[in-house]
Amino acid sequence: MLFQFSLIIPVYVLVAALMLLLSIRTWTLRPAPGATAWSMTMLFCAIFAIGAGLEIAFVSPVLKLAMDRVIYIGTTGFVFFWGIFAIQYSNRGRWLKRTNVFLLAIIPLVTLCLALFAEYHSLLYRSYEFVYEGDLVMGHVMAYGPFFWIWLGYSYLILTGSWLLLFRSVIRSQTFFRGQAWMVILASVAPMLTYLFHFIGINPLAPFDPTILIMAFSGIVMLLAMKQYRFMDIVPVAYDLIFKNVQSSIILIDLKGRIAGMNSTAEKILKLKENEIIGKLALDVLPQQFAVLGTLQDSKELKTELEMTKEGSFYELQITPVRNRRDEWVGRLVLLYDITARKQIEKQTLELTIERERVQLLQRFISHMSHDLRTPLTSMKVTQYLLRKELAGQHSIRLDSLMQQTERLTEMVESMLTLMRLEKDELGDLFSLNVNELITNVIDRNQALADAAGAQIHFDSGVDLPNVLANTDELTLALSNLVVNAIRYTPSGGEITVSTTLDANHVVIWIRDNGIGISEDDLPHIFERFYRADSARGTHSGGFGLGLSITKTILERHDGSIGVQSHLGEGSAFCVRLPTAVATEQLKSVG
Ligand code: ADP
Repeated sequence: MLFQFSLIIPVYVLVAALMLLLSIRTWTLRPAPGATAWSMTMLFCAIFAIGAGLEIAFVSPVLKLAMDRVIYIGTTGFVFFWGIFAIQYSNRGRWLKRTNVFLLAIIPLVTLCLALFAEYHSLLYRSYEFVYEGDLVMGHVMAYGPFFWIWLGYSYLILTGSWLLLFRSVIRSQTFFRGQAWMVILASVAPMLTYLFHFIGINPLAPFDPTILIMAFSGIVMLLAMKQYRFMDIVPVAYDLIFKNVQSSIILIDLKGRIAGMNSTAEKILKLKENEIIGKLALDVLPQQFAVLGTLQDSKELKTELEMTKEGSFYELQITPVRNRRDEWVGRLVLLYDITARKQIEKQTLELTIERERVQLLQRFISHMSHDLRTPLTSMKVTQYLLRKELAGQHSIRLDSLMQQTERLTEMVESMLTLMRLEKDELGDLFSLNVNELITNVIDRNQALADAAGAQIHFDSGVDLPNVLANTDELTLALSNLVVNAIRYTPSGGEITVSTTLDANHVVIWIRDNGIGISEDDLPHIFERFYRADSARGTHSGGFGLGLSITKTILERHDGSIGVQSHLGEGSAFCVRLPTAVATEQLKSVG
């Protein structure tokens, strides 16, 4: 007779099938942390169940002994992978370096080798007997060898260690995961009980090994964990990774106002360590900015802004009640969003608005003041004229100086009014202008000034120059300013050359002089309002530093540009570029 039958054998078959099912199901859930290890644990459980079942079923001692080796394959694999699973599931995967895994595997591997060749030594068991128990032939170890105790100690160490790891993660895990974690704990108690029973010799199922029923129990618990608590679908490790690594700061506070968790972003911002403050009262450990937590009513929500540091880091604080599945209030979630960048932009925008208003106020003041100055200046000029007539040649030097200063004041007021108008008003009517004619005009107008200054003006007009579209008055003023500057800043005997040329679709005008020139330091600033170089001040001529900014504004209004090259003591060359009328039209039609 090869086989014997007992009612316990179908139970082994069922358990093996259940374990295989669990193993396959978890295998499909890889790469969830711990899934592979859990699948392997279940597989070795199945191997154990098959071995144990067949050991009873076989009558022949040889086959029974062979099945005992299969049982060893099952138990060694089970203990090893259970340990690995516990480490991964409790989020300590970093422990599993190659060397550690190797060290962990040594004893199971040696035990397995010893079991496979048990007939050649007595390290695992010294005597094994076959006895009749009722109708059944059963195999029993009568005396264990020394290595069996090493293996037993190792198994206990791994199972207890794993259990502690899992227990710790249950205590620390968020409410959401507590259910599934408790299930894992419950299932993991079972193998420990098996060992304990075995060890102290209690066996309620004698003559059968109780392991199988406990394994069946564990299997059902884990099946439940998968169904009810989504075990392995969502593992605490993955949750932990999200919770810990999310960019916003998260602090969990329990019902009693104690810190229940904190992610790394919150740790960084608050300069606190989660493990140092966990379980402590939030109001005691969090900075004073969180005092609002003490005044907030139980399940109220709150959104407010906090300034966390003196250097001005701002956070939006959001406090939300956390409820469990039964909608009971279980704690608070405190979220902190970094809004420093937004706050800075808001601050800058505010500063900019204030600055703009200040500038507008100043402009309005200058504009009004300039307007108001026009009338007294005109009246001063008239009075000076009448006075000159009445005094018939007397005090003419003083009157000349008075007139000169009045003229300068008038020029400044007019320049300021022009600048205000250019900034405010739209570009007036545009005409197709011949630049050469316009320049001739400008030179003619300023010829007297050039003669008085002892400067010579040459005009080198480019041939076949296309027209430009421009406001005549404005362009005349812009070019006039440049010619006047060239005259003003060129000592007597100097030369001024104006030339025009065409460059692609731009008319280019050069105004060169061999006057005082501009220093490297002044050059970048000469187009700024009211800027005057020191060298220019020394000439006792010139205006108020508004001419070039007026010119630049006018040219930019015409889609043109202005540039300058100059060397102190050698002279300056201003280059104006204006789009041809055709180019301007094209630009307009595209726009
Ligand atoms: P200003 O009324 O003083 O001439 P501008 O705005 O026209 O004011 O010019 C600004 C400054 O640029 C002048 O004060 C002078 O220092 C310098 N500058 C302008 N044109 C020349 C030039 N052709 N040669 C030397 N310096 C010049």
